[in-house]
Amino acid sequence: MKSKNKTKFLSVFLTALMLLTGCKSYNEADIKTSEFFAMDTYISISAYGENAENALDNCRKEIKSLDSQLSVTNSDSEVCRINSSKGETVSLSNDADRIITAALELSEKTNGALDISLYPVVSGMCFTFGEYQSPSEKALNDLLKNTGYEKISCKDGILTLPKDFKIDLGAVAKGYGSDRAIQILKEKGVTSALVNLGGNIALLGSKPDGSDWSVGVQNPFGEGYACIVKSRDKYIVTSGNYQRYFEENGKRYCHIIDPKTGYPVDNGLASVTVIGDGGLICDGLSTALFVMGEQGAVDFWKEQGDFEMIIVTEDKRVLATEGIFGDCPAAELGEVVKIEK
Ligand code: ADP
Ligand code: MG
Repeated sequence: MKSKNKTKFLSVFLTALMLLTGCKSYNEADIKTSEFFAMDTYISISAYGENAENALDNCRKEIKSLDSQLSVTNSDSEVCRINSSKGETVSLSNDADRIITAALELSEKTNGALDISLYPVVSGMCFTFGEYQSPSEKALNDLLKNTGYEKISCKDGILTLPKDFKIDLGAVAKGYGSDRAIQILKEKGVTSALVNLGGNIALLGSKPDGSDWSVGVQNPFGEGYACIVKSRDKYIVTSGNYQRYFEENGKRYCHIIDPKTGYPVDNGLASVTVIGDGGLICDGLSTALFVMGEQGAVDFWKEQGDFEMIIVTEDKRVLATEGIFGDCPAAELGEVVKIEK
């Protein structure tokens, strides 16, 4: 068995900062960058302005603290305390309350495509610990009995999980981390910043020169980009089967699970990128839309429509919603197909 764990968006970061050409004058030395490893990924935050250094320091501390609080594999974390609650009520921290409440709302909205209660299945397949194994159908059905977001109760900061349920916030935690980073940067007076949590991008304002940031959506099949999005003040999050996956007998298994079957998603999509107004929401949505598949994702966008989306399929088609089409040249793959309402 071969395992791969690719860190993707380093190239995004480079694209975003190397295209600094615009109208406003600024001092390049005033762009400060902090790079570190947390939340199981490479993190890079660049900020411009007087308080940038201090703001970055605070962002790093916050993200590291969220990491130890939310990690499902750290036995001291809040999530592990929740997962060993054996049906008893648990009083949540503000962060956990916000994340779980928002994730459950998103589960409802996506008809269960996003489900934070899949940890028994995820750990049963050993994804978290780095080795994939296909469980038997019977074993999988037994694991699925202890899942189902609708059986989780979370009200006024009090959480109750059915006995033997376990949660995993992996699908939304980095998005929440990017929300917190943007909040801290704003509080410190930073007006221009690029936050990159392993593929969860958050843009504060424009580039220091006043022009849009350029964010490359990786070509899942090799070098280069499927699309380059030009944007500001937005969150851009990709979920895909190419960044973390395992191969067995020539077949690729991705780390995103279809909650209805318990199996890794295998529906012809290579990646889904969501562009919207909140990190947690975009992170949760990109995972959920990946589960829904091409038609499901397009239908969902037509109904909800308060975000933009880029889909790359396994047969190498690129689809983009109408709001970003003009900025999406699809240099590396075929023509972009526009998705319209
Ligand atoms: P990444 O963490 O690579 O950015 P995602 O945001 O799509 O990817 O989250 C995937 C993680 O979320 C998995 O590693 C797993 O822990 C968990 N997960 C897998 N499938 C689901 C799902 N359908 N709903 C909620 N969480 C999921
Ligand atoms: Mg996600």
